[in-house]
Amino acid sequence: MDLFEYQARDLFEAHGVPVLAAEVVTEAADAGPAAERIGADSGGVVVVKAQVKVGGRGKAGGVKLAKSPAEAVEAAEQILGLDIKGHTVGAVMIAQGARIAEEYYFSLLLDRANRSLLAMCSKEGGMDIETLAVEQPDALAKVAVDANTGIDEAKAEQILTEAGFDPEQVTAITPTLISLWDVYKGEDATLVEVNPLVKTEDGTILALDGKVTLDANADFRHPDHAALEDESSADPLEAKAKELGLNYVKLDGNVGIIGNGAGLVMSTLDVVAYAGEDFTGGQASPANFLDIGGGASAEVMANGLDVILGDEQVKSVFVNVFGGITACEEVANGIVSALQILGDSASKPLVVRLDGNNVEEGRRILAEAAHPLVTVEATMDGAARKAAELAAAN
Ligand code: GDP
Ligand code: MN
Repeated sequence: MDLFEYQARDLFEAHGVPVLAAEVVTEAADAGPAAERIGADSGGVVVVKAQVKVGGRGKAGGVKLAKSPAEAVEAAEQILGLDIKGHTVGAVMIAQGARIAEEYYFSLLLDRANRSLLAMCSKEGGMDIETLAVEQPDALAKVAVDANTGIDEAKAEQILTEAGFDPEQVTAITPTLISLWDVYKGEDATLVEVNPLVKTEDGTILALDGKVTLDANADFRHPDHAALEDESSADPLEAKAKELGLNYVKLDGNVGIIGNGAGLVMSTLDVVAYAGEDFTGGQASPANFLDIGGGASAEVMANGLDVILGDEQVKSVFVNVFGGITACEEVANGIVSALQILGDSASKPLVVRLDGNNVEEGRRILAEAAHPLVTVEATMDGAARKAAELAAAN
């Protein structure tokens, strides 16, 4: 899960990373009092920042300085509702302004290819890091970080020295890097990025912008992370699937997909996309990913079908199951009972392909049930083709 800047800022603060005072508002009128509390009326400057989960807000007009509460309201009016790279701004953060002397870059991320963590650091902050990596690759230090030892004083010194900081700067920034490691480890993040990390005119180090991605696999360790979820932007079908404990991802097409095992479901998406190309100019494509896992009970099957049939875009459903520990006859019974449970709300054609353990009995059960919506196909390609054809025709 990606966090908003203000949420990252709050986590930073909780772990001792130096940040400035800030408040979030969703109404422009509230920006005035917030700016006042933060000090805009006593000669201070505040920054009004769009809260969208996308970078480059500064260039898109989503970051504005304000010298008074009235100016903060004006800036909030301009920024709220703005479209930044397809994200509509629904909230702004009013933050205390900083007198920036220098802008740096720091990030710590999961480097899957190298099975390690990777710290990236540069004295050239503020600019887009992808651009920096291309235009000035030497200005970006990349240092592997062992997940077991993390960033201690020695590691921080190594990272900062490789980035070209002089010893005095290294000493000044080291505690912040150690605190950022504390965020990464303590919150189970897969990314912690600060751009810019700044030195102010009086020499203070501050994290002025924060980007954090949390590892959903560690949610069980962090009950407090649930509150960070942005429910307003969550897809309702995905939310429902999550509630039911299903492994579901909504896609844009019209062929609903159910399978057992992530690998099988992934290849099912491929064959459906491929088969769909043959019908009326590619009018059939996968509507979702749904892995019902090993024990495909009737209840799990019914829940899966319920979610998929609730997708208005879905015109046909492809159930692709390879019987393993859960044999085909159990899956077939699951499909038949699921259709009974759903009754009239099951209203779209289902193409079923069963194979593997006890397939004959599974097919017999489906044939005997002879449900008018169910077509059984012998092969995965044949079933993909049939499901695509039905979706394109409906
Ligand atoms: P991004 O463009 O989405 O990455 O948003 P940032 O939070 O990084 O802000 C963009 C730029 O605005 C920064 O690189 C700074 O140059 C500037 N900025 C942000 N906060 C302040 C501040 O408090 N004072 C000043 N003077 N500039 C700021
Ligand atoms: Mn930034």
